Amino acid sequence: MTIGNLREAQIDLYAIRENVASLKASAEVENFMAVVKANGYGHGAVESARAALEGGANWLGVVDGIEAIQLRKAGIQAPILTWLHSPSDDFAIQAEFNVDVGVSSIDELERAAIAKVGFVQIKVDTGLSRNGVAEQDWDLVFARAAELRSAGGPEIRAIFSHLANAGVEADSEQLIAFERAVATASAQGIEPEYLHLASTAATIGFPAARLNMVRVGLGCFGLSPFAGVGSAELGLIPAMTLRSQIVSVRKVVAGTGVSYGHRYRTSSETQLALVPLGYADGIPRCASNRASVWIDGKRFKVSGTIAMDQFVIDIGQHPVAAGDEVVMFGDPKTGYPSADDWAEASDSINYEIVARLGSRVSRTFTESRS
Ligand SMILES: *Cc1c(COP(=O)(O)O)cnc(C)c1O
Repeated sequence: MTIGNLREAQIDLYAIRENVASLKASAEVENFMAVVKANGYGHGAVESARAALEGGANWLGVVDGIEAIQLRKAGIQAPILTWLHSPSDDFAIQAEFNVDVGVSSIDELERAAIAKVGFVQIKVDTGLSRNGVAEQDWDLVFARAAELRSAGGPEIRAIFSHLANAGVEADSEQLIAFERAVATASAQGIEPEYLHLASTAATIGFPAARLNMVRVGLGCFGLSPFAGVGSAELGLIPAMTLRSQIVSVRKVVAGTGVSYGHRYRTSSETQLALVPLGYADGIPRCASNRASVWIDGKRFKVSGTIAMDQFVIDIGQHPVAAGDEVVMFGDPKTGYPSADDWAEASDSINYEIVARLGSRVSRTFTESRS
């Protein structure tokens, strides 16, 4: 008995290694943290992390202890940083697995010390207004961190922050604020090994923010953080190809209503092909009637509403049969629609297209060049 693979995200590990190597080389930065949160932006956290390390990353970044411990349990020993914690998180687990805890408040710092965390990295808010220690608390937090350290508490391995990518001027202001934070820490005798601020966009586009470490997520997966700029223009290779199969083809007459709400109606006698991917798999419903897919070298538009498990395409008289391959998106160099195309068709960003892929989509790992 065989069970067909109806939903497959093929992940090119060669692409991830190459993307990391080329981003690291062009940024000329010593330390490269590959961000593999959210299941490696949908690409598989463990496999993506390994490929990134092989490509030259020397740090891994994830949001929390659950994601970090998944990497440790898979045998990954590279240094790991986490930065988003619930008030009830027990940092003892991160201490046990030798994970650096990014702290955003005096409370998190105290809890890290109580849990005997070896290394903390202090996150400061420089203008994104999410987490990170607020500027009015910098003195207090750095003073307490220095005090805990001298009493044998956590070592302060880094100061870091995150940019709002709100334009050159806003980013520059954040860099200036970051330098103020570093000076405030220095006045308390804190001279951390790492200073980091840049994610993919700044790593490519704002050299002054590279400092001595960058934290790159999207770029590792070969996608561009800039609207209107494709992967190829940045020398990146999209690592994910989302594939499926036509499950059936049927002939219908002109005027046939298609899918929920009949938001598509055939204009002539035609054929409808059914694709077994839907919004439960992360295909954005708002791309109904807008996005295109690839079949045998041609593009076909989604016809009607994308449902939970499936959608329809009007294939006209093209010779498409059940079992034929459908590519949702991949590397546009090969003629496939891109994650950027799907983002545009759903008023979103490529980050969301890959990261939201559901658990029914199997991940398979390949090497485009071996
Ligand atoms: C997600 C994240 C990154 C990576 O951002 P990209 O734009 O994907 O490179 C870096 N730093 C922090 C704090 C993040 O949350």
